[in-house]
Amino acid sequence: MDVFSKHKRSEVMSKIRSLNSNPELILGSELFRLGFRYRKNVKALPGKPDLVLSKYKTVIFVHGCFWHSHMNCSDGRTPKSNQVYWIPKLIHNTRRDQVHQEKLKELGWKVLIVWECDIKKDLIKVASKLTAIIRN
Ligand SMILES: [Zn+2]
Repeated sequence: MDVFSKHKRSEVMSKIRSLNSNPELILGSELFRLGFRYRKNVKALPGKPDLVLSKYKTVIFVHGCFWHSHMNCSDGRTPKSNQVYWIPKLIHNTRRDQVHQEKLKELGWKVLIVWECDIKKDLIKVASKLTAIIRN
């Protein structure tokens, strides 16, 4: 059961969405600058990874801290109100993420998860960490 009114929920969601709307673009353009080429939102792969670097057989998911329940992150906390709505939804998201990651690994992909808060905090650090792992 959804305890949010329709209006209230769409308000909350659009707020969250606007915060989340560009981290994958920011990361993508930084990786591009560093010489990586990628495809975006590849529907043919499990979970529709945000960035796919075929040359390196690597996929990158840019996870919004809220939607993917980032542990020990203030943005990843479950809302105190309307937990009847949020808890199952967020658990469902986490399980789905795990399933997609397992499938990708089975297909031989290296799977990298990047958290939105890390991109906001220190894009350069995130990009250089990724570079090391991707090239390894
Ligand atoms: Zn976070």
